[in-house]
Amino acid sequence: MKTMTCRQLGGPCDLAHRGETADDVITAQDRHLKDAVRSGDADHQEARDAMKGRWRHPKQSLGWYRDMKQAFADLPED
Ligand SMILES: [Zn+2]
Repeated sequence: MKTMTCRQLGGPCDLAHRGETADDVITAQDRHLKDAVRSGDADHQEARDAMKGRWRHPKQSLGWYRDMKQAFADLPED
């Protein structure tokens, strides 16, 4: 398992997500951004919009995914 924070994934806080793969932590971050914005956290709105845009334009967002996967791969195992 590895840990990536909201901030490492482009968000504004230090909440930690744990997962076996980069996809796990990206999915957890997506859920976290949705929950935060739904509960009225304006700080997470920008990251949420960026994430939504990525789902909508997957081809233009490949660079971001590649960066996140590389960052995840470079992390030490917990
Ligand atoms: Zn956060």
